[in-house]
Amino acid sequence: MSKIGKRVCVVGAGVIGLSTAVRLLDVAPSLQVTVVADLFTPFTTSDGAAGVNVFWNYQPDSLLYKWGFSTYMYGQKLYKENGHLTGVQQFFTVDIYDKETNCINASDIDRRKLSYKELEALYPGSGYRYGTSSLTYLTECKIYLPWLMKRFKLKGGNVLHRHVNSFDEIAADYDVIVNCSGLGARQLAHDDSIKPVRGQIFRVKAPWIKIATYDHDKMTYIFPRSNDVIVGGVYQHDNWDLSINHQDRENIWKRACKMDPSLKHAHIINEWVGLRPGRPEVRLEREVIVVNGKKVNVVHNYGHSSRGITLHWGCAVDASQLVLQCLQLNTVQSRL
Ligand SMILES: Cc1cc2nc3c(=O)[nH]c(=O)nc-3n(C[C@H](O)[C@H](O)[C@H](O)COP(=O)(O)OP(=O)(O)OC[C@H]3O[C@@H](n4cnc5c(N)ncnc54)[C@H](O)[C@@H]3O)c2cc1C
Repeated sequence: MSKIGKRVCVVGAGVIGLSTAVRLLDVAPSLQVTVVADLFTPFTTSDGAAGVNVFWNYQPDSLLYKWGFSTYMYGQKLYKENGHLTGVQQFFTVDIYDKETNCINASDIDRRKLSYKELEALYPGSGYRYGTSSLTYLTECKIYLPWLMKRFKLKGGNVLHRHVNSFDEIAADYDVIVNCSGLGARQLAHDDSIKPVRGQIFRVKAPWIKIATYDHDKMTYIFPRSNDVIVGGVYQHDNWDLSINHQDRENIWKRACKMDPSLKHAHIINEWVGLRPGRPEVRLEREVIVVNGKKVNVVHNYGHSSRGITLHWGCAVDASQLVLQCLQLNTVQSRL
């Protein structure tokens, strides 16, 4: 399909880039949108993420909560309409804490504290005292990203496989650049505040595990998905090492088996290391850069740290509005 509208380049084909590109064509179908990236699914960081949405851990009046809740509602819609095609699953989830928590933020969903008795029934012998439960959505990016890509192409989106060394290389060809380059923004946006937060996980076969569990204080999680269970993890700041660390694997496995001893019977499918795009806060804003005397609008949408899946749709909605503002197009009221 050839288009005659303004030209927008989205740099990045992880969950942030693809969702932003799709949302842009949802609200402004005449735009010529091109996704440019050097890695596509199944090779992005997003592909390796567990994909659980835990938005209730954010302050209710924060942007994180707003973006996370919007993504939660979007996940609910996808799950109900097309769960198996989109990779969105619904799970009963338990959050465990060492101390009494006020973490019952999410008035919009059925979230409640669990009693000691309930925790003991769910995790016999664990000694867990404080926990909350609710339903949440888990997005498997290895299914979700191909689905987004298909939607993007059906809407007339273009795709370019290439590395971008600098916005200067592409500025002349587009009216707006949307920077969804994750950790790549360190170089592209000259942003030293974005640093890797290294994660390491196991993917295992354990179909009897049906409850998603996240022990916040021990940073250990067990997340069942459609065909596997993700067991993690570590959060190592400023660590660029992409190889499996044997000490980490031992520690993770030990902690997880303590949480759910049935894991000892699980078959390990593989292990994976990924680098989260860590930043003190998400950067979602407009910037005007000057390239060869030409003013170029850049909309940044990166730095989602350990919550890119949790926040992606809410951020895509806001980033798309910023692009429309740059182009002085009529803005469309954000729906899901
Ligand atoms: C072990 C682990 C578990 C996780 N679990 C969860 C979870 O349960 N829930 C959750 O919400 N989050 C989770 N995350 C975090 C989540 O993975 C990230 O926040 C998210 O993937 C960030 O998405 P992104 O699109 O910004 O980055 P990426 O997926 O890294 O995509 C970046 C894109 O930009 C492109 N790019 C970058 N630089 C350039 C360049 N110079 N030129 C061309 N292309 C470029 C890349 O090729 C890629 O396409 C987890 C992360 C890890 C490591």
